[in-house]
Amino acid sequence: MELKEIANNIFACLQEDKGFGWNNTGFINLGGGLIIDTCYDLNYTKNMIELIKGIYSGPIRRVVNTHHNGDHTWGNQLFKDSEIIAHRLCAEEMEKEKARNLPGLLQTGIKRPHRFPSDMKWFIDDISEFDYSEVEITLPNHLIENRLDLELDNLICQIIYVSPAHTSNDLIVNIPDEKIVFSGDIVFHKTTPLGWEGTHQKWIEALDLIISMNPKIIVPGHGPLCDVDGVKKLREYFEFVYSEAKRFYDEGLAPLEASKRIDLGPYKEWTEPERLIFNVNRAYREFKKEEPWDAPFNEIDLLSKGGKLRAYWEKN
Ligand SMILES: [Zn+2]
Repeated sequence: MELKEIANNIFACLQEDKGFGWNNTGFINLGGGLIIDTCYDLNYTKNMIELIKGIYSGPIRRVVNTHHNGDHTWGNQLFKDSEIIAHRLCAEEMEKEKARNLPGLLQTGIKRPHRFPSDMKWFIDDISEFDYSEVEITLPNHLIENRLDLELDNLICQIIYVSPAHTSNDLIVNIPDEKIVFSGDIVFHKTTPLGWEGTHQKWIEALDLIISMNPKIIVPGHGPLCDVDGVKKLREYFEFVYSEAKRFYDEGLAPLEASKRIDLGPYKEWTEPERLIFNVNRAYREFKKEEPWDAPFNEIDLLSKGGKLRAYWEKN
């Protein structure tokens, strides 16, 4: 983990992308301190706090959760005295994950992987360095709808709702004076994106919004720092996958068969290309027009199909 000053008082806290859960966070050393996202467990969130202590020793006044996924929120309990800002639907999704004890379920996956389908090994391997045993899902306490503008000393910080894109509750943090965007998981760079709830169209619109802001630096949710070109490449990936998925949908292929037929070309170089199955599956949901964008789906099944896709590529 590395804390990198990307503008005066603005820091990106970067983690090497090692698969699911290796997210980036941020810190703004103004207005009493603002953290953008926590990490996937307490150990990594404590690492982040230690790095921040090197530049700021006071209590952290505010935390923003860019969306509900555990890799962005499961360190929240270390900031119980802070104002934790997130979208209303972020709190709803976190309630659901708390009710099904998702941290406990994943901890079982790490300790007893034989209880899960063997095709899920790639995912379990990714998360095996994390420890969820002490995680208590801690909900945000300041819920927003469309937008919140903060003035951190003299720095304007625009927190903008852009969903349903990667999830139902994605926020980006735009700092116009410094031309910096913390994108949360709206941007994945050099690593394959995947969508949960949400739609293709809204994700493209969110990327177009970031492009229109013309930032010099984007701190992606996953992967190294990038500029607008990185956002455009991601947009091209989505357009490519969506049109390929449509072609194979029209031919009557199931999502896994379609994923096997898609020639990813340069996108195969991005880490975890097997996340393609999530994107194809989501495109199919839209083509069928049967289900709303927030219909529940079977994560275990999709993670298993990702393992099958990896095995297929290894053989062919
Ligand atoms: Zn993430």
